[in-house]
Amino acid sequence: MPLFASLSRRVPFPRIAAFFPAGCIASGIVLVTTGLLLAGPAALAAPNAHRSSTKTPAGPATIQVGATNYTDARAWFGRLGYRAQKTENTRALVLKGPSDGTLRFEVDSREASLHGLRTFLSEPAILSGSSIFVPTPDIERFLTPMVRPSQFKAPPLRTIVIDAGHGGNDTGARNQTVKFNEKDGSLDVARQLKKLLGQDRWQVLMTRDDDSFVELAERAEFAKRKKADLFVSIHFNAVAKNPGDVRGTETYVLTPQFMRSTSSAKITPDDRKAQPGNKYDAWSAVLGYHMHRELLTGLKTEDRGLKRARFAVLRLADCPAVLVEAAYLTNDTEAKLIATPAYRARIAKALYAAIVAYDATRVAAGR
Ligand SMILES: [Zn+2]
Repeated sequence: MPLFASLSRRVPFPRIAAFFPAGCIASGIVLVTTGLLLAGPAALAAPNAHRSSTKTPAGPATIQVGATNYTDARAWFGRLGYRAQKTENTRALVLKGPSDGTLRFEVDSREASLHGLRTFLSEPAILSGSSIFVPTPDIERFLTPMVRPSQFKAPPLRTIVIDAGHGGNDTGARNQTVKFNEKDGSLDVARQLKKLLGQDRWQVLMTRDDDSFVELAERAEFAKRKKADLFVSIHFNAVAKNPGDVRGTETYVLTPQFMRSTSSAKITPDDRKAQPGNKYDAWSAVLGYHMHRELLTGLKTEDRGLKRARFAVLRLADCPAVLVEAAYLTNDTEAKLIATPAYRARIAKALYAAIVAYDATRVAAGR
């Protein structure tokens, strides 16, 4: 553990990113997508600004490609007790953890598996020599907090703010077949969750407890005024294309500074801005992990991924925050479920279980 004691104070990525103008990012992506170039003559001839490799006895090897720093995933997680497993696929790295949790990365893919949960890296994993490298910010700010939360200073948990998405004139998504509005489903789940949490252990507040419109910034501001330690925003999902085919649960946490969001095709200048919520990246990741896990367990639904986005409430929240898209209102099968109080109760129970698990993790990390 002392090995990583200073992890939460390290900020390697911003330092690296600050060195490179936007042009380097584009050429970096070429190196990544061509893969083999990394080990080939072209890469060796490239200036150090695009690629450099270091290996010291103190830590795993790192590589810079354009503006992104990558770390040898096997070496990094090896220090956390994860051991590489034999796999038929030479382009995949499967690491088994001390408590049976498995991590999986694949060359040229942003998709990764973390203890059975589907998640997405900020950039695809890359192959260098025979090792698979994963973006360092993902490792340090997203993956490691989830697998070793005890290495990050545990935050308090006294006040929880539940945010029922939409309200008033803003109906959110609407299913025409079932005639059900997102704003009504989110409010009901929020109320059920509040009831489950009670008031004995924590102070539990809601950004709205009726059918009123509340600005996004005001929701985060309310949490700040109340000195919230946790912010949980409840939504239902919508998709325009092939709505009958898209179903399942998505869980969102704030995209860390200098990283692109899951749905973003490439990094942009806006990605360089620090958001207030970025102070809590590590514990937002822990919260997202428990939320996503409990929702999938409780709803037995399709895993659409633990994702990252800069939604206003996540950007502005001054505490660990998560936004859950529990199911798709645009999918008639799921909408019919969402319209039943019993299914909404299952969602609330899953969110409750996640908060309890987050709290237990927090307490264990503080010891
Ligand atoms: Zn919504």
